[in-house]
Amino acid sequence: MSSDFDAIVIGAGPAGATVAIRLAEAGWTVAIVEKRGYPRRKVCGECIAATNLPLLDALGVGEAFRDIAGPELRRVGLYVGEHMIAAPLPPLDSGPHRWGRALGREHLDTLLLNRAAALGAQVWQPWTVKHEQRDGALHACDLVRTGGGETVRLRAPVLIRAHGSWEPEPDAQASTRAPHRGGDLLAFKGTYRDASIQPGLLPVLAFSGGYGGMVLGDHGQTTIAFCIRRDALRAQRADSPRHTAALAALDHLQSHCKGVRDALAGATQADDWLAAGPIQPGIHAPWRADGSFAVGNLAGEAHPILGEGISMAIQSAWLLCDRLLDHGAGSFARRASPAQLERIGRDYERRWRGQFASRIRMAAVCAHLAMRPRAAGVLLPILQKAPGLLTLCARAAGKVRKAPNSPVEHFTDPIQTGVKR
Ligand SMILES: Cc1cc2nc3c(=O)[nH]c(=O)nc-3n(C[C@H](O)[C@H](O)[C@H](O)COP(=O)(O)OP(=O)(O)OC[C@H]3O[C@@H](n4cnc5c(N)ncnc54)[C@H](O)[C@@H]3O)c2cc1C
Repeated sequence: MSSDFDAIVIGAGPAGATVAIRLAEAGWTVAIVEKRGYPRRKVCGECIAATNLPLLDALGVGEAFRDIAGPELRRVGLYVGEHMIAAPLPPLDSGPHRWGRALGREHLDTLLLNRAAALGAQVWQPWTVKHEQRDGALHACDLVRTGGGETVRLRAPVLIRAHGSWEPEPDAQASTRAPHRGGDLLAFKGTYRDASIQPGLLPVLAFSGGYGGMVLGDHGQTTIAFCIRRDALRAQRADSPRHTAALAALDHLQSHCKGVRDALAGATQADDWLAAGPIQPGIHAPWRADGSFAVGNLAGEAHPILGEGISMAIQSAWLLCDRLLDHGAGSFARRASPAQLERIGRDYERRWRGQFASRIRMAAVCAHLAMRPRAAGVLLPILQKAPGLLTLCARAAGKVRKAPNSPVEHFTDPIQTGVKR
């Protein structure tokens, strides 16, 4: 296999696979490196907002997505304490597919990565990028076969980091990891068969010390995914010391949320609970001083209360590819000077902030309200009287935008004056 490429992409979640598809389709030589074997499950609520559906079509996986995804998500809910409120989810203004749907990450990520491979991207899997350095004008990545000793070096002028934000970076030293804090948010996901949840309803779960969501996804399975503060989990584990962390967290959630208790009363666990975290909400660095680009969670991460992370992963990758492809085919990467790449990086970062910063801030506000029972207590009577406010919140959270002709326009690039493809 060749070891020199136009671009190396680290990580094959939705962000990395989107980059690999678009660059490979435009004729770039692309290596995409993923440490885990696929299909792999992942902590995620797995709701894919309607704004992504045209993008999935443009990426060549829309039909396969629709074949297996769960029912259209037409209602949003709020489950807090003993209360359950629901309201319509707004649809996209136009287009054949106007509501989002849920699909397990073992399916979505595999579909996207297979598509990248079919377009010629070279997939290194399961390989882990352990170390990176500059080699003249090139980025050099040292890979180790996951679980084995084999190593290889790949080089490219363009390096795109899409390795998420929940695991240590390549080259990270154990000593540089942040110490545990009570406010850290740990994330869990479980899947159930025969849960009592209305098809097409997407309830947000608000409880003391955490928040989450629940949805009927593919193959009739219900996904529950939530975040809980480390101190709330610690207190719960002290009460139920024989439980795993995931089951203690679920106990805490159920004791604070009747909607979840009811939904799981006759359900059977379909798979092992998964855990991840602490998650790292906030704006990170879409463009880095070492001359690399970041997409997806690594560029910036919204609290997952609004379920916009996959959207931001795919859409940030789209935004970056637009910037890179504006300059031409793969041969551009080979002749681009570091100064040119830096200009593209700074432009991408500016547009990234225009596009996503407000979503990140809005998600932070919602997350902090949801985790505080007193705030939820104040808001609850208002929402009970006017459940339509939930619809407005979903709209404000970027769940739908005007749906014009080009897939690029499904998310607004505030700086872009003319849409190019
Ligand atoms: C509880 C919870 C619920 C959520 N619910 C939703 C939801 O309903 N809807 C939604 O849109 N979003 C949701 N999200 C957010 C969503 O999961 C993330 O935003 C999304 O996965 C980010 O995609 P990504 O491609 O940036 O990174 P990831 O999906 O994390 O992919 C990164 C990939 O990089 C690989 N990798 C890491 N390091 C290396 C390395 N050194 N070498 C090679 N490969 C590497 C990893 O194995 C991984 O496959 C939720 C998150 C949480 C925590």
